[in-house]
Amino acid sequence: MPFALYTRCMGLSLYAATTSQGKLRDFAAAAAAHSIEVASLPRLGKIPAPEENGATFAANATLKAVYYSRYAPGALVLADDSGLEVDALDGAPGVRSARFAADAGLTDSPDANDNTDVWNNMVLLQRMAGVHPAQRTARYRCVLVAARDGQPLYTAEGAVEGQILDAPRGTGGFGYDPLFYLPDLDRTMAELDLETKHGFSHRGRAFAALLAQMKI
Ligand code: IMP
Repeated sequence: MPFALYTRCMGLSLYAATTSQGKLRDFAAAAAAHSIEVASLPRLGKIPAPEENGATFAANATLKAVYYSRYAPGALVLADDSGLEVDALDGAPGVRSARFAADAGLTDSPDANDNTDVWNNMVLLQRMAGVHPAQRTARYRCVLVAARDGQPLYTAEGAVEGQILDAPRGTGGFGYDPLFYLPDLDRTMAELDLETKHGFSHRGRAFAALLAQMKI
């Protein structure tokens, strides 16, 4: 189900469109850190999601921002594309992060709850089995694009370096967070509260860079 945030800051209207509850929480925390007012946009759930067929995070973020901006004439619309790059897997899952398990043939039955994150983490653990700790380096990347009336106007990137554990730790966050370890903090992303995650995360860094470009 798509969600959007509607933010208003010094007369600026900005919608952040995402299909992920985890991203939605991250954006809310990032916006709050910049004292931007946030409210969810009603009825975005009725907009069919565009196909994310770009080869890069930037291509996917751009196509989503352009697409959703046509549903909010005159407003700035923000879209995110993000994912995990694992060095031992030659950068996989990358732009296929959300569909890593599905690409391996693992999907929920139609009547089951959404277990995509569980399947994705299981596939990641399988692919990383036996990889030496020193070779378990990885990073999250995020590209944010803000568009208005179908025109991309601002692009910003953020990344955070980490390591892939061989067992999950923590219950917060979403996606690969329980397996993504931050050596400097001695915590996984799933062990951080939202405020701390925002300060370190690829999404929080991209959001801050975007606001800097927009001079907010
Ligand atoms: P997309 O940007 O909607 O194509 O999906 C990004 C995917 O990358 C998510 O479904 C997660 O699997 C993963 N991902 C991106 N950002 C994060 C994060 O902050 N924590 C955990 N997983 C993430």
